[in-house]
Amino acid sequence: MTQTVVILLGAPGAGKGTQAVRLAQALGMPHVSTGDLFRANLAGGTALGAKARGYMDQGELVPDELVLEMLFDRVAQPDCGLGYLLDGFPRTLAQAEALGQRLGENHPTVINIEVPDSAIEKRIVERRTCKDCGSIFHLTFHPPAKAGVCDQCSGELTQRKDDTAEVVRTRLQEYHAKTQPLVQYYSSRSGLCTVDGQNAQEEVFDACMACLGRRMEVRQ
Ligand code: AMP
Repeated sequence: MTQTVVILLGAPGAGKGTQAVRLAQALGMPHVSTGDLFRANLAGGTALGAKARGYMDQGELVPDELVLEMLFDRVAQPDCGLGYLLDGFPRTLAQAEALGQRLGENHPTVINIEVPDSAIEKRIVERRTCKDCGSIFHLTFHPPAKAGVCDQCSGELTQRKDDTAEVVRTRLQEYHAKTQPLVQYYSSRSGLCTVDGQNAQEEVFDACMACLGRRMEVRQ
């Protein structure tokens, strides 16, 4: 059976993480976030975490070879057998090429969530993440019912170390230089859907689901 592979592209703070959780749940497939995998390695004090830390703290991309090994290990797990949803990967042409080689004729479904740079800083600086379950909140657009406490699991809400105004600038530069070219890359190969990430969360979700429905119909 063909694996279904979904890729969410978009700048940091475009809402990939929030949509990825919901889409993965709706599609019944694992959500594979390379950022989350790195953060788990940092928290676990692994050698990979130690190598990635400096890049992440500065807002730079981790070198491709470290990302690829970690990602391919993850998607080789049995729960990814029927497919998986990628959030934060690929982020460079080399990563896209490596994934393409692995998938062969099985083209991924690619959704590009677009948000202008002018809106990104506020989205990122006010983002808060649950330490325990990873749920994402925003102090203005999606505040928790009780300040500092996760609505889902009552865990503590924290700010990611790289979610500061200074680091955001580097992350955006990295995005434009290395990741944005993937929009053209996938448009000219398998095609992709672009979704307006400035709409309400629910609308963005519906637009992503509509895109997935169309793409999967075309492939059948
Ligand atoms: P994210 O949670 O997706 O915003 O990722 C947080 C940080 O992890 C990024 O700023 C990078 O330093 C690193 N990272 C995550 N995914 C990748 C990737 N595919 N390639 C290179 N670095 C990555």
